[in-house]
Amino acid sequence: MASNAVGIEGLPTQLFVNGKWRDAADGRRLTVDDPADGSALVEVADASVDDAREALDAAVAAQHAWAATAPRERAELLRAAYELVNSRAEDFARVISLEMGKPLAEARGEVLYGNEFLRWFSEEAVRVHGRWMQNPAGGSRLLTMKRPVGPCLLITPWNFPLAMGTRKLGAALAAGCTAVVKPASQTPLTMLLLASVLDEVGVPAGVVNVVTTSSSGEVGEALMADDRLRKVSFTGSTAVGKTLVRQSADNLLRVSMELGGNAPFLVFEDADLDAAVEGAMAAKMRNMGEACTAANRFLVHESVAQEFSERLAAQMSALSVGRGQDDGVEVGPLIDEKARNGVSALVADAVDDGARVLTGGEVPQGPGWFYPPTVLVDVPEDSEINREEIFGPVAPVTSFRTEEEAIERANSSEYGLVAYAYTRDLTRALRVSEALQFGMVGLNTGVVSNAAAPFGGVKASGFGREGGFEGIEEYLDVSYVAIPL
Ligand code: NAP
Repeated sequence: MASNAVGIEGLPTQLFVNGKWRDAADGRRLTVDDPADGSALVEVADASVDDAREALDAAVAAQHAWAATAPRERAELLRAAYELVNSRAEDFARVISLEMGKPLAEARGEVLYGNEFLRWFSEEAVRVHGRWMQNPAGGSRLLTMKRPVGPCLLITPWNFPLAMGTRKLGAALAAGCTAVVKPASQTPLTMLLLASVLDEVGVPAGVVNVVTTSSSGEVGEALMADDRLRKVSFTGSTAVGKTLVRQSADNLLRVSMELGGNAPFLVFEDADLDAAVEGAMAAKMRNMGEACTAANRFLVHESVAQEFSERLAAQMSALSVGRGQDDGVEVGPLIDEKARNGVSALVADAVDDGARVLTGGEVPQGPGWFYPPTVLVDVPEDSEINREEIFGPVAPVTSFRTEEEAIERANSSEYGLVAYAYTRDLTRALRVSEALQFGMVGLNTGVVSNAAAPFGGVKASGFGREGGFEGIEEYLDVSYVAIPL
């Protein structure tokens, strides 16, 4: 525990291993920066592979007893954690906003959303069941039961430091699995704060271990090479996800992969344009565009493309950009210099290809990794910005002529996480929803995330689902007993 620039008394900055806070064995620390000005916020312990192995030792040692606890007991612990996060919501929001950059209002939204996974999975913990059925051929019975898969490695990204953790941890704990959590090195504080909440409500030592490290590759590889680990759940980039899937092969781990996206946002000629612009703002600007669900490609029917683009640009240019903790700020900085340079390069490339800038497009002077809300029109379909995940506040708009063309272009991406479609025609809405090759569709809405819904993608966006009734299944094995009768 340390006093720090975050200004939260008792904010943990050490590793959480086997129910104890401790430094890395070799004393190394890593610095957490404020993306609003690049200054150092605080240092946290920087775990080595040996530290991480100790965390896995603890998770393995705790697994048997945790799996044997009554589901109600696990449910009550998760519920108590939900209540405690609620009562400390402002602390969580402040930490999220400071280390990640998002405006406080959005950070409060993440606390509400992320905490819902603890409540949802507290309710799911008591609903794990099997089945009893007659052999179709007669003469015997089939009994199935579900068991926790065992110790898990949970790797989370920086963009939603609480929610990406709770939707894994909630499900894992509810199912009876223990875990080693490895948060992103740029945003480790939120997960450490969550660990302190889980500890305070009485989650037993070793059930949850948090390892903050700048050696993510080495730590991940070492833990996955240990055959006591039984599962890896990862949220992050497709490139790292592919590496982890390869590494998981030797021990045939259960694997869940929540990877990148390239969401199309379709606006048909019969759409309610007010609703479409409002949805576009939500789908594009949540988290400054640094969301896997962010609308990446706006495909708008040619008859409404100009009006839609102008209205979107008017709303985008009215947003106030600044430090996330300042009053009235709606758009914070991007996570780091590399991220901002990447967004800036995609815009420059699109402009080279012939795109026009309706608003934004200029990197501001001064400290911090800010990028202005930007709308581009006349973006050629094959421009890189339409193929890459932008991960920033930039909306490239192109037009289409027919429904078939819109669907074909929407599907022509290696990614398949989420698509959005705006239309008032019910038949078209259903037809388009079926035709879109994505794990999720936002139909006349710019927000799909919901703890009660199965979140996840297809194709290069990964596999597995988080949240919903499906989320807990990722942490359960099914076994079956054949019974002659
Ligand atoms: P990232 O670079 O893939 O990192 C994600 C996590 O993996 C971090 O904790 C990172 O640690 C760790 N990591 C990196 N290399 C590793 C390795 N070789 N072995 C083990 N762990 C490793 O992704 P990001 O930039 O943080 O996150 C943005 C990406 O996440 C975007 O593509 C976004 O679409 C995706 N995302 C997907 C979802 C979804 O649900 N589908 C949700 C949110 C974000 P370090 O911080 O130490 O590098």
